[in-house]
Amino acid sequence: MSRSVLVTGGNRGIGLAVARAFAANGDKVAVTHRSGEVPEGLLGVRCDITDAEQVEAAFKQVEEAHGPVEVLVANAGITNDQLLLRMSEEDFSRVLDTNLVGTFRTVKRAVRGMLRARKGRVVLISSVVALLGSAGQTNYAASKAGLIGFGRSLAREVGSRNITVNVVAPGFVDTDMTRALTEEQREAYAKQVPLGRAAAPEEIAATVRFLSSDDAAYITGAVIPVDGGLGMGH
Ligand code: NDP
Repeated sequence: MSRSVLVTGGNRGIGLAVARAFAANGDKVAVTHRSGEVPEGLLGVRCDITDAEQVEAAFKQVEEAHGPVEVLVANAGITNDQLLLRMSEEDFSRVLDTNLVGTFRTVKRAVRGMLRARKGRVVLISSVVALLGSAGQTNYAASKAGLIGFGRSLAREVGSRNITVNVVAPGFVDTDMTRALTEEQREAYAKQVPLGRAAAPEEIAATVRFLSSDDAAYITGAVIPVDGGLGMGH
């Protein structure tokens, strides 16, 4: 059955691969984007998730076109790396406001409709560094670890309404985010991964799609690593 799916930050990287995986499944897929165009076959809605009004407007647009959101993939996220002593409060807060509070804004809005429908799927994109830690990423790791507590608490709140909430924790994925690293850094990261390479965004998308499928109906509150063994299942 064709479902109404919304992927935040679905115009590129992991989000776009996720959106394409749902579209290939025959779902009606909307993606949020802040600039540029979105690929054909996807409904693009402009939205900065740090702005509650834009989140509300985006949901209204999706609901008009595709009906209430049945599957939400909270994927939008940023990094702003710096060692703690050089990190300003603004650097720290901006990452938290996007990755954690932005997810709160979008998930809260989506769950409203899911509660009414008595069904739904929420998938949060965290990171291996949430549990592993990463020097220079205290802000990012805190935001991604926060998603795990957030997701597990919500899973308990909405489980009885047939809504599952799961977290995917990718490792090192080949996207713009990691292309910003130097070649040396990328090689060093790949060496730490037991599978010895970065993931393709499609490899993350496959797990997100599974968690949103009927086959995963009895999985909630889980944190699924898709990291080539980097976190060894934590
Ligand atoms: P990209 O940098 O390639 O894409 C980030 C996406 O998030 C873009 O679509 C961007 O939109 C969107 N976004 C950022 N800030 C906002 C905002 N304030 N409002 C709305 N959208 C926003 O990243 P990836 O595809 O690599 O990452 C996707 C998710 O996966 C992130 O949460 C990231 O933390 C996580 N992740 C990535 C890993 C990796 O190795 N790449 C590893 C583990 C987790 P726009 O185009 O408008 O900027």
